[in-house]
Amino acid sequence: MTTEQAAPAIPAPTVNAVNAWQVAQRQFDLAADKLKLDPGLREVLREPRREFTVHFPVQMDDGSVKVFTGYRVQHNLGRGPAKGGIRYHQDVTLDEVKALAMWMTWKCAVVGIPYGGGKGGVVVDPKKLSKREVERLTRRFTTEISVLIGPEKDIPAPDVNTNAQTMAWIMDTFSMHTGYTVPGVVTGKPIALGGSEGRNEATARGAVFCIIEAVAHLGLDLTASTVAIQGFGNAGSVAATLVAAEGATVVAVSDSVGAIHDPNGLDVARVIAWKAEHGTVKGFPGARPMSNEHLLEVECDILIPAALENQITSRNAGRVKARIVAEAANGPTTPEADEILYDRGVFMIPDILCNAGGVTVSYFEWVQDLNRDHWSESVVNTKLKEIMVRAFGETLALAERESVNMRTGAYLLAVERVASATSMRGLYP
Ligand code: NAD
Repeated sequence: MTTEQAAPAIPAPTVNAVNAWQVAQRQFDLAADKLKLDPGLREVLREPRREFTVHFPVQMDDGSVKVFTGYRVQHNLGRGPAKGGIRYHQDVTLDEVKALAMWMTWKCAVVGIPYGGGKGGVVVDPKKLSKREVERLTRRFTTEISVLIGPEKDIPAPDVNTNAQTMAWIMDTFSMHTGYTVPGVVTGKPIALGGSEGRNEATARGAVFCIIEAVAHLGLDLTASTVAIQGFGNAGSVAATLVAAEGATVVAVSDSVGAIHDPNGLDVARVIAWKAEHGTVKGFPGARPMSNEHLLEVECDILIPAALENQITSRNAGRVKARIVAEAANGPTTPEADEILYDRGVFMIPDILCNAGGVTVSYFEWVQDLNRDHWSESVVNTKLKEIMVRAFGETLALAERESVNMRTGAYLLAVERVASATSMRGLYP
């Protein structure tokens, strides 16, 4: 644990204050420099292969028509079809989707699954729409991007504010166009429609496998460790459940409405039930309310950012108390903050490794769909553990060998794999 005294918290920047695409390119540049990547290859990997913007109309429940903007970006297809989630959020931008697509390329390479990177997003606050409106928006967006997606081309999955139901609508819409059921066009589907056992928990489970490895590497004891989690959606709430099941004490959690803190430990199952009833963790009986900014700086051993990008920056990294930061979210730490954390001895489990459990089980789902097969949850979890533990070990070994932080270690592993696939395929025509 660091013993630095807490300075008064200043608000963390909003998602748009730091440009995620510039962050992604700088992270790539660090690895490309270190690898002495061929300049031509560097230029190819530094930009997305395809960026697709759509503006599409949706009929609202009151009969009016609204036009929404959406994106699908494919960063690299060298190692296989594009893979990556679809996000519904009012702050979605093309640059954010480009960053998320590039991170997907590296993530699939770190865990060694045969995909390239893609991502999609629609600029919308779905909480302001009815369920029927979200369904119509999803079906029309699917139609607009149907020129790009397909089980051999580009396979979406859930991300922020999208879930198994959203994937069911995408699968149904694509299947209606095709004339037969195509389960392999999306992952993260309901089990009844060809979804995989364990997919819902996979992102968090993969993160917890990494945390277990990191704790062992640092000679810590997980059962004596405290955990703070920013974001209490799919990744964050499941991570809370799984890390508590491993014996750790969850002392603080937050969502977009607010944060709660109890140094003696929160009852995770009760917090989940409270959020299901009230729509937020805020107001949970017995816990102290806290600002979202303070949560990142709270006294704890393990901090799990599980919300959005650019949360740990040069402004607050000096006040992070955790010994381990496990990035369940994509892009929560800026490059400047990375350096500060590294210098202060904080062990970083970077997003492209830490949250790769989600895409790994998505890959298992796709394999099951293509083979019309269904695996048990224990088979899924065993295969997931094997992949995550191997990727963690390979990243750590490379980081130690090159004397770099874990993020650069993961980038060296990933960029080298993608670069060698891209150069072996050669330049067409
Ligand atoms: P989600 O929509 O289920 O949950 C997001 C959570 O973050 C919600 O609880 C929301 O209230 C909270 N949040 C939003 N803004 C916040 C803020 N400023 N402060 C605190 N909390 C805030 O989304 P998710 O699927 O859990 O995704 C979360 C992160 O994990 C994203 O970065 C996503 O890209 C990443 N991720 C998700 C998956 C997956 O399989 N779902 C896989 C890999 C990575």
